[in-house]
Amino acid sequence: MARYKDALCRLCRREGEKLFLKGDRCYTDKCGVERRKYAPGQHGQRRKKLSDYALQLREKQKAKEIYGVLEKQFKRCFYQAERKKGVAGSNLLQILESRLDNVVYRLGFASNRRQARQLVLHGHFTVNDKRVTIPSYLVRIGDTIGLKEASKKLSIIEENIAKMEHRGMPSWMQMDTAGLKGKILNVPEREDIELPVQEQLIVELYSK
Ligand code: SF4
Repeated sequence: MARYKDALCRLCRREGEKLFLKGDRCYTDKCGVERRKYAPGQHGQRRKKLSDYALQLREKQKAKEIYGVLEKQFKRCFYQAERKKGVAGSNLLQILESRLDNVVYRLGFASNRRQARQLVLHGHFTVNDKRVTIPSYLVRIGDTIGLKEASKKLSIIEENIAKMEHRGMPSWMQMDTAGLKGKILNVPEREDIELPVQEQLIVELYSK
């Protein structure tokens, strides 16, 4: 499956809620969900009663869209989560949260996960002082996420960090804004992950 290249706001409108896919625009009244509170397409304004399967599918799609992960990768994360001890749904979110592109976004280096993914792919970030260019790289407790020396002066990163207040830093990580370094303090627990997703429905979907 190719990467989704259509208008991102359509994805939020399909789910009927803000998924914060665009960064700054999502916090303004230009947000697509604020402007048109119905699903996209010819039949978007019809009321539909969703079946159990449709509800499960929508939750899975929502999680995929938020993290910008394709179906195959998402399924792989789910199987990995199932093999781990604990609750599969929480494990799944933990894995998705630990992806390097998500961590770069959460630390405030990028305004959205897509931009974070691109910055990682372009080799601007290091993990424990080693350059990492894999967005799906999973960080661990104690890892330090920093910038390559030459990337520290990138204006886009400076701007993103300056605008970070409206998002807030998750409790499981710490950012040294002056040193442009972030540290992973803990494994994120479910209550640390602010996400409009009912992960149990995703587990039910894949367990069929
Ligand atoms: Fe979604 Fe952001 Fe577009 Fe609003 S502006 S619909 S939150 S992507």
